[in-house]
Amino acid sequence: MGLAELDPQQLDTLVAETTGAYRELLERKLSLDLTRGKPSAAQLDLADELLALPGAGRTRSAGGVDVRNYGGQQGLPEIREIFGELLGIGVDQLIAQDNSSLSLMHDSVVWALLHGVPGGGRPWSGQPVKFLCPVPGYDRHFSICAHLGIEMVPVETGPHGPDPDEVARLVAADDTIKGIWVVPTYANPSGAVYDEAVTRALVSMPAAPDFRIFWDNAYALHHLTDTEHPPLDVLGLAAEAGHPDRVLVFASTSKISYAGSGVSFLGASPANLDWFLGHAAKRSIGPDKVNHLRHALYFGDAEGVRRVMRRHRELLEPKFALVSAVLERRLGDLGIASWTTPEGGYFVSLDVLDGTASRVVELAGAAGIALTPAGASYPYGRDPRDRNIRIAPSFPPEPELAAAMEGLTTCVVLAALEQQGA
Ligand code: PLP
Repeated sequence: MGLAELDPQQLDTLVAETTGAYRELLERKLSLDLTRGKPSAAQLDLADELLALPGAGRTRSAGGVDVRNYGGQQGLPEIREIFGELLGIGVDQLIAQDNSSLSLMHDSVVWALLHGVPGGGRPWSGQPVKFLCPVPGYDRHFSICAHLGIEMVPVETGPHGPDPDEVARLVAADDTIKGIWVVPTYANPSGAVYDEAVTRALVSMPAAPDFRIFWDNAYALHHLTDTEHPPLDVLGLAAEAGHPDRVLVFASTSKISYAGSGVSFLGASPANLDWFLGHAAKRSIGPDKVNHLRHALYFGDAEGVRRVMRRHRELLEPKFALVSAVLERRLGDLGIASWTTPEGGYFVSLDVLDGTASRVVELAGAAGIALTPAGASYPYGRDPRDRNIRIAPSFPPEPELAAAMEGLTTCVVLAALEQQGA
């Protein structure tokens, strides 16, 4: 029965149970962490073959390149071929770089500010610059904007991304909007999967030539069900729509091999790749090709990556099931929360009663359960309804995850009761 429908006696019982459960939680002096979407140690173990690769004496790529030396700005062809197949991007339009796709996004924004982008004329800087930020979204995208003085304009996301008409309207009305952050597959944290209609609309809408879509496909291959959403050919669709330079596609193996020692990728039009590589050449004499080679040897081919991802799914799926089960059992009837059941990616997005998310995080923190700060999934850390909490189930072992979820749900109920003055 919903919280609002409880009679005074039932409410008293719930208050007594919840305050009792919270007291017990405090006494357990837990130290649990649901904050960041990091792979667990068991997931990282899957890739430990990498530690022995490329192997003593293995210094050359299949094409005869000595991977120990400088050069090869575009990255090793064999790793680009594997991920080109998986991401649906031709190898000539995909480059492999160092360990972090976030740094490629950061650099792209910085270079656009300093130098402008192909076809765009003057640098973005020297005038106000804004980005559209589908919300809830990835906090580190927002940190890049905040750090570089870019004003963020939130746009609500649905299960298939934001309303493209709303995006088009905003972009048409304000030419200082230079970009939009998109996590098209299993979005962080909403789990949204952009469909072809939304994608086509985004690449087709009228926009200035220096407007860019930052298409961050960090979770393109991270399926949790048999419904494996394939990556859309966003570069092809953009070219077809007459805007080949509008999209920059980012991806990495951070949650496929090692987070922090993986390979990052940028897919883009020839003009955008020349632009990116031209600037990249000023800050590095080439990416880590030894890492490219060891990844290519470890995966072997695209099927090798799919095989690895199935093993990740085996480790992750039970954790997501556990999160859903606890949320359903503890909150399902009360009408005080809703949550996503993602088909992939790394997060569950939990919406609690408006105005209680910060209090839930505070109560959980006091009980030793670290949650991402309320509002983190919104620009400037401000969730206007103070209701969204991002749950990252991947890192803790299952018993810890179960304890954290039980504790979290106790805090959700307690905060709701407090708000109702119960
Ligand atoms: N993009 C999204 C949407 C993410 O959630 C993350 C990590 O959580 C990243 C990018 C970071 O990617 P990388 O490790 O390649 O820098």
